[in-house]
Formats: sequence, structure tokens, C-alpha cells
Amino acid sequence: MARVLRVARSSSLFGLGSRFYSTSAEVSHASPFLHGGGASRVLAKDRNVQWVFLGCPGVGKGTYASRLSTLLGVPHIATGDLVREELASSGPLSRQLSEIVNQGKLVSDEIIVNLLSKRLEAGEAKGESGFILDGFPRTMRQAEILGDVTDIDLVVNLKLPEEVLVDKCLGRRTCNQCGKGFNVAHINLKGENGKPTISMDPLLPPPRCMSKLITRADDTEEVVKARLRIYNETSQPLEEYYRSKGKLMEFDLPGGIPESWPRLLEALRLDDYEEKQSAAA
Ligand code: AMP
Repeated sequence: MARVLRVARSSSLFGLGSRFYSTSAEVSHASPFLHGGGASRVLAKDRNVQWVFLGCPGVGKGTYASRLSTLLGVPHIATGDLVREELASSGPLSRQLSEIVNQGKLVSDEIIVNLLSKRLEAGEAKGESGFILDGFPRTMRQAEILGDVTDIDLVVNLKLPEEVLVDKCLGRRTCNQCGKGFNVAHINLKGENGKPTISMDPLLPPPRCMSKLITRADDTEEVVKARLRIYNETSQPLEEYYRSKGKLMEFDLPGGIPESWPRLLEALRLDDYEEKQSAAA
């Protein structure tokens, strides 16, 4: 089917407009690309996936979105990264942003949509297509803006018990040279009342990164708890919003990456896709 670009319906929304687009899709049950939350599976033959990752701070959205981005060849766009880049640039917004981010609060919808918009525009100029969004939308307003300008195929809602999330955020480290993320936390949450035991080994950096590790300024216990509170109040309603549209895929992480990655691929019906990709490489 011919690729049909649909110009965004709402070009006045904070200037986001035509930087988002969507195309027609053709139905095929053979496809690993999902549409409609996994209930019906549609081959988005004419374009790449347009997915959203939801979930509390520290759940692993960045880890899994980034792995899927490599596997599927679509950009992983994390609005938290865009905010941190803006902070690091010491541009006009950076002072205002650092106060908000360091308190664990949300940046205004207008600022975040503008940052995302610029990122998409730069990607479009490089020929990118599709996306895996991580950390956007986070408010109902953002979800409405997104819905007004493009079609989201699937929303993956990653879940872990709240007790684990604080420890995971506090254990998070990034190498300030290679940019890779690690985690020094040993997680072992005993299963009680029918809930499974969750254990995760630390993801330790190689020796060359060891002296270059940095911790995010907003990964302190107080700020992580504030971010979790804000997630529950402001972002959790998005789960119901996407559930009611039949787009939500719930995924309870069974543990760390070695257990969770193959199960996630299975849930996304991408398990044999990874093998085919490596065979073709
Ligand atoms: P993250 O890396 O996703 O935890 O984001 C770090 C911080 O960036 C958040 O605590 C917010 O202050 C800000 N931020 C990221 N994405 C959004 C968003 N969609 N809406 C508002 N603020 C955001």
C-alpha cells in the first residue's frame, strides 16, 4: 500500500504540528509489529513502529526501549534525556529546568512538547521514521496532543513493585564518557501474599567506566519518592486512557534483564524476530 503521509490535524498545538505524522497501515497477522495493544496485530508495512513506554521512574523504560530501538531500527526518544541535554547546554531554559527537575516535578507541557518537537524535526531531517517514546506522554494533556497529531500503535506499561523502584533509582549510574547506564543495586524482594519474588543482580560497569560513573541529581531518595508520588497522581491516569483505547499492553517485569528481555520479546511477538535479525546480520 502506498505510503500516505497524514499532515497533523492540529498544527497549533504548541507548534508540534506536522513534525508528527502517521501513515496508512496494512493488516497482516504474520507481523511482529503490533497494533491495538496486542489484541489485534497489524503489520505497519508502510512505516516503522510508533510505540510509547509507560511506567514509574526506575522501572526500566529506558533500558527496554533502547534495546527495542536497536532491534527494530527506530529511534528511542526519551524526553528525560532531552531535558538533561537542555540542562547541560546551559541555555536560556536550563536554570528554570534544573529547579523543576531537581525537585522531581514535571516540566510544563509546553516546554516538553517544544523539546520533543525539535528532536523529531532533527530526526526527520536525518530520515528517521517511527519512534519509541520513553517518558512521554506523562500528563493527560500531553497524551491528547500526541493523539491529535499521530497514531500510536502500542503502549507498553512496564511494572515493578514500588519497593523495588526506589532502590533501583538509587543504584543507577551512568558512565560520563561512553554514556552507558549501569545499576549497582542488589534487588531481592521476597514474594508475599501470592506476589512473586523479584531478584535482580547488579549491572556492573566494566573497569574502564568505573572511575567515570555519575549519579543523576534527581536520583536521591527524597526526589525519587516525590517523582513516584507525581507519577501516581499525574501519569497513572494515562494507563486507563490507553487501556480504554485498547492500546495498553501490561508487562510485569519478572526480574532483571536476563529474565525480562526474552519474556518482553515474547509478549511483543518479537521472539523469533531477534533470531532472524542476527541470522541476517
Ligand atoms: P526521566 O529521565 O524520564 O525520569 O525524566 C527526568 C525529568 O525530566 C522528570 O522528572 C521531569 O522533570 C522531566 N520530564 C521528562 N519527561 C517529561 C514529560 N513528558 N513531562 C514533563 N516533564 C518531563
